Amino acid sequence: MAIRRESHIGLGVHRTYRVRVTHLVWDWNGTLLDDLALVVTATNASLASVGGPPITAEEHRRDFRRPIEAYYAGVLGRPLRADEFAGLDRAFHDAYDAGFASIALARDALDALASWTGTQSLLSMWFHDQLVPTVEGHGLTGYFRRVDGLRAEVGGGPKAPHLVAHLDALGLDASDVLMIGDSVDDADAAASVGAACVLYSGGFTDRKRLELVGVPVVDTLADALRLTAQVGEHR
Ligand SMILES: [Mg+2]
Repeated sequence: MAIRRESHIGLGVHRTYRVRVTHLVWDWNGTLLDDLALVVTATNASLASVGGPPITAEEHRRDFRRPIEAYYAGVLGRPLRADEFAGLDRAFHDAYDAGFASIALARDALDALASWTGTQSLLSMWFHDQLVPTVEGHGLTGYFRRVDGLRAEVGGGPKAPHLVAHLDALGLDASDVLMIGDSVDDADAAASVGAACVLYSGGFTDRKRLELVGVPVVDTLADALRLTAQVGEHR
């Protein structure tokens, strides 16, 4: 197993994890890209398109989940009609696209990417044909062995099957992989293949929710890599 927890979260003692990985799979939105504010704006545009109430950033961090249909249904207080999700998803992406050119990376994203000495890749649920030029625009393409976004026209599903395909394409064994993301879905995907996972609290999900998952939760991307740095100290 790639991560062994040696002390329990919540006991107030120093936590030590041994993370033995050679490859990082990064999440994009909310992890390397600091786009929570824009996502909230776009979510509100989406909700407004069906007469829903606006949400705040903290409400998003507390309530957002996948499948996204279930999240919208929770906010709206009713199930979505069969034809409704595609329209909500389109409204979200239209609003997101209108603002994303000015969105910055997470504060220590570049330092984290540059400091890792193993291999890295990017797996996002954002549209592939927009992700690739955006990653290039931020000057990050060279850090990644592979960049995969969503190749379907409508998103909202879990990341797990995409992680399977991503690792297959890379020819990687999941036991060599650490996923770094900001959502419960990232951890679910990692668990589904047996990869390690560290969750970043600076993105789309409230820290308390992340702590319930049972994998390490960090407040900076550098801290995620510090967990892996402990490999050398212990083996
Ligand atoms: Mg994310």
